[in-house]
Amino acid sequence: MALDLLIKNGTVIDGSGGPRYRADVGVKDGRIVEIGRIRAPAERTVDAEGLIVAPGFIDGHTHMDAQVAWDPLGSCSCWHGVTTVVMGNCGFALAPCKPADREWFARCLTAVEDIPTEAMLAGIDWTWETFPEYLAKVESLPKGLNYGMYIGHSALRMYAMGKRALEETATEDDLKVMAHAVEEAVRCGAMGFSTSRATTHTTPDGTPVASRIADWHEIDVLVGAMAKLDAGIFQVGPDISGGAAQRTFLDRMRRVALETGRPIMFGMLATKQGVEPNPWDYQLRWMDETVALGGRAWGQATTRSINAVFSLKSYLPFDVLPAWKEIRALPLAEQKARLRDPEVRRRLIADEALMKPKGSELQGGGAATTDPRKPDYDNLFPMLDVDWDDPSVGDLSRRQNKHPVEIIIDLCLENDNRVFVQPLVNETPADVLGLLQHPRTLATFSDSGAHVCQEMGSSLQTHLLSYWVRKRQQFSLEQAVRMLTFDNASAWELPDRGLVRTGYAADLVVFDEQRIRPRLPSVEQDLPGGARRLVQKADGIAATIVNGAVALENGEWTGAVAGRVLKGSLAA
Ligand SMILES: [Zn+2]
Repeated sequence: MALDLLIKNGTVIDGSGGPRYRADVGVKDGRIVEIGRIRAPAERTVDAEGLIVAPGFIDGHTHMDAQVAWDPLGSCSCWHGVTTVVMGNCGFALAPCKPADREWFARCLTAVEDIPTEAMLAGIDWTWETFPEYLAKVESLPKGLNYGMYIGHSALRMYAMGKRALEETATEDDLKVMAHAVEEAVRCGAMGFSTSRATTHTTPDGTPVASRIADWHEIDVLVGAMAKLDAGIFQVGPDISGGAAQRTFLDRMRRVALETGRPIMFGMLATKQGVEPNPWDYQLRWMDETVALGGRAWGQATTRSINAVFSLKSYLPFDVLPAWKEIRALPLAEQKARLRDPEVRRRLIADEALMKPKGSELQGGGAATTDPRKPDYDNLFPMLDVDWDDPSVGDLSRRQNKHPVEIIIDLCLENDNRVFVQPLVNETPADVLGLLQHPRTLATFSDSGAHVCQEMGSSLQTHLLSYWVRKRQQFSLEQAVRMLTFDNASAWELPDRGLVRTGYAADLVVFDEQRIRPRLPSVEQDLPGGARRLVQKADGIAATIVNGAVALENGEWTGAVAGRVLKGSLAA
C-alpha cells in the first residue's frame, strides 16, 4: 500500500506518557496506518532524524470564533505545535445571533476580548443565525487546524432575551428557549455550554456581560439540558475577584457538578490580586473534594503568568495621560523623535505622577491595558528574552539611577518591538508548577484569538517544553507531551486524537527537543482592515501535520487546509 505521508527516522513520544522509541510513522487518508520500520513507498516523506514525533497539541481554551472566518492558519496557536483548538469559551460566541445584533456582538467581543470590531466586520461573512448554522459555516471554511466549539451563554441569552439579557432575570419562557437551543447545539456537535461569572468580563458600557446577569437557577436549567442528554461539558470563566466571592462561586459550582454529573471546567489561576485572595491551592482541594463527592471537574491551567502586554506599537501604561496622549497620536517615527527630546521626556515623566494608584481590584488583560493604574515597577518586566529571568523595570531603575518611565522609554527606543509584561495572575512560577502538577489540571488556556494586543498566551505549549522541561527539568518530555495531547483529548472526549497510534487521526508535530522555544512576540498589523495584534512564533518545530496533511514546515504555512470541525459525542 502506498502511503500519503511517511515520517522517517524520528523518535516517537506517543502522548501516553510512556517512554520514547525510534520508529517511522506512516499516514494514509488522514490516519496513522503504520508505525515501525516502514518499507512502503510514500507520496511524501518527512525526514525526522534527530527529531521528536508527537501527537499534535490540543488547546481547549481559545477564542478563535471570529478569527476562524479570516485566518485559515489558526495563528498564533498553529506556530506552537497546536493542531486542535476549542473555541466559544467563557460564554462568548458568535452564535446564536440575530442579524440585527451582529454589530453589538462584535462590540462586546471587542470590549471583553480585544478582538477589533473593524476586523470582525471586515473579515466575517456573517451568514448564520443559529448555532447549527454557525457550525455548518465553520465546517465550510478552509481551516489549517481542527476546531471544536461551545454554545456560549452570553450569545444565547442575547439571542433569547434581546436587550433584557443585560439587565433581567430570565422568565420561564426565556429558559425554555435557551434550554432548547443548548440541547439543539449539543445534539448537532457542540462540545458543551460555556458561561462566565468573571468580574473582568464587561460590555462596552462597562456593565456585566449577559451571562453574569443570569442567576444560578438559569445555570442549573441550562447545564441540566445537557444532563438530560448525558452529553456536553460545562465551561466557566470563574469569579476570582476575591476570597469570599471565589468561595461562593466554587460552592455553587460544586452543586452544579453534583446535580448534573456533567464535567465542569474552569481556569485555575493563582492570584495575589483581588480582595483577600485564597491560597493558590484552594481550588485544587475544591476539585479533589468535588470529585470525591461524585462530581467531575477539571482545572484549566496555563504554563506561566498571564500578563498584560505593553509596547510602543500597542498600549503603554501611560497612554491616557495628557502629555502622552499628544505624542501617542503621532506616527511611530515621530513618536520616537519626540521621545528622544529631553524636554518632552521631562514632561512625560512628570505626568506619570498623575496616574491612578493601584487598588485591590482584580484587573484582567483588558482593563490593565485600557484603564491602567500606576504600574508596580517591580512587577513590570521588559521581555529581553523568553527565559523569564529578566530584571524588572524597578530593578533597572535602581541600577541605572533613572526614573522607571525613562527606563521604559529607553528600552522602546532601543527596539520598537520590545514588549513589557505585567503579570496579572500566576505571578509566582512555583504556584504555576503546583497547578500544572495536579492530575486534574489541564495544560491549556491560551485564550488564542482574544486579547490580541493585550496578552500573549498562545505560546503556552512551547513555553512548557522549553522552560518547564528543558530549563527547569520539572517534567520529562514524555510527561509534558502527554499533558498537551492525551490528557486534553481525554478531557474533551476526542476519541481518536492525542496519541500516536494506528487508527488515530494523523495530527502530529515534529520538533527538536533541544531547540523548541517561543520567539519574542512583536506587534504586527495583519488583521482584516489592518488592525494590529501581538504575534509570537516559535523555533524548533520542523513540521505540523493536521489530518495527514503537512500544514506547517519550519513555521511556514504550506497552504494545506485539512482541519475539520470536531464534534461532541452525540454528533461525532
Ligand atoms: Zn476565555
